[in-house]
Amino acid sequence: MKIIYVSFYMKNLLIIVIIFFLFSCDRIRKKPKWLKGNLHTHTLWSDGDAPPETVVNWYRQNNYQFLALSDHNILSEGEKWIDVVDSANTEIWPPPFTIEKLEKLKTEFGDDWPDLRQKGDTLQMRLKTLSELKDKFEVPSEFILIQAEEITDIFDKYPVHVNATNLELLIQPQGGKSTYDVLQRNVDAVLRQREQTNRPMIAHANHPNFYWGILPEDLIKLKGDPFFEVYNGHPDVKNWGDDAHPGTDRIWDIVLSNRLHKNRSVMYGLATDDAHSYYNFGIGNSNAGRGWVMVYSKHLTPMGVINALENGEFYSSSGVVLDEIKVTKDQITIKIQDEPGVSYTTKFIGTPRIFDTSYTPVLDDKGQEKHISRIYSTEIGQVFFETDENPAVYNFDNTELYVRTQIISDRKHSNPYAEGDFEMAWTQPVVNTHKLPEPQI
Ligand SMILES: [Zn+2]
Ligand SMILES: [Zn+2]
Repeated sequence: MKIIYVSFYMKNLLIIVIIFFLFSCDRIRKKPKWLKGNLHTHTLWSDGDAPPETVVNWYRQNNYQFLALSDHNILSEGEKWIDVVDSANTEIWPPPFTIEKLEKLKTEFGDDWPDLRQKGDTLQMRLKTLSELKDKFEVPSEFILIQAEEITDIFDKYPVHVNATNLELLIQPQGGKSTYDVLQRNVDAVLRQREQTNRPMIAHANHPNFYWGILPEDLIKLKGDPFFEVYNGHPDVKNWGDDAHPGTDRIWDIVLSNRLHKNRSVMYGLATDDAHSYYNFGIGNSNAGRGWVMVYSKHLTPMGVINALENGEFYSSSGVVLDEIKVTKDQITIKIQDEPGVSYTTKFIGTPRIFDTSYTPVLDDKGQEKHISRIYSTEIGQVFFETDENPAVYNFDNTELYVRTQIISDRKHSNPYAEGDFEMAWTQPVVNTHKLPEPQI
């Protein structure tokens, strides 16, 4: 047998060299990947109809890589017991937790899994905390859970809901003097906590058209970290607007055009589930699996996800899958993942750099401006180019303020937010930074 003698010094040096080599290899080898996640989810911690483990298991089994549990004004921590009732009145919301659901839970996770107690005549179950859920479900590089909260606030009769993703401490609704003020104060509270804790976190404005709560004008002014939901799977959120109210795509264009015109930052558009119902699937229920984000990141960690979102390295989807989004100074190229028998229309949407910035306010009988979007020029949010080609390519002609894409499949969504919806995807706005051409003399 050959014995190799290595001095103590040499041995340590060798270990350091090997560790450095492995670390370097890992860094070089690691490429970004598309990671699928939902940032807006409810459970029995607030008004979802299922225990958090049932919810997490649904996303885990449906090939998501990250999930943020965002219950209303509560974190999944501490001790919370819920009643287990014999039968439920299905008319009330949230529906009570029944014996039948408890039996399903036992089938899913085993008889010993639920923590039960008898309080007087009532059987109760303790809700699992986020740290228990992490222990049960998280797998490095495969699936993570992110702490979140839907800060649920109101001004007058208008709901103003803001999701805080990856926050550390609960944030109470901040209130305010107008819908804009409530929105800004809640976003500021998230950014303040981020500053104090030095932990990456983002705020996003939820479902602007839910009871027509948040106006484009509120989002135009919003300072901080501007994200909003261009798509939310809850059946009551009026994604597509109506005769008197713009849909979320139109809101996005109004907001982008006015923000960029005023030299403010872009606003990114998220798709989320806002899931509450996990037992009954179909139109009219707020189900899991309707809208999600795909972030392009090397790291499946809360920081990796947040960084990609903040850098705009993601797209939003209600079914369409993209292979690549390539942006150069001259072109945008979108490669859609082909599926046999399915075709796609890609719309390149934007506003020219020189556009009509005027608007008409909507007034009530007394001449006061109503809580309703102002009416803006049709120059905002034009379709610059539309194609059925894949890849879809757009060449900048140097007159655009920004360009974003909306991709629509000809395949109907299997469990749509609204009847007749097709699967879609939205990419993030690209601001044209070319200099305007010199005027011809
Ligand atoms: Zn909400
Ligand atoms: Zn919600």
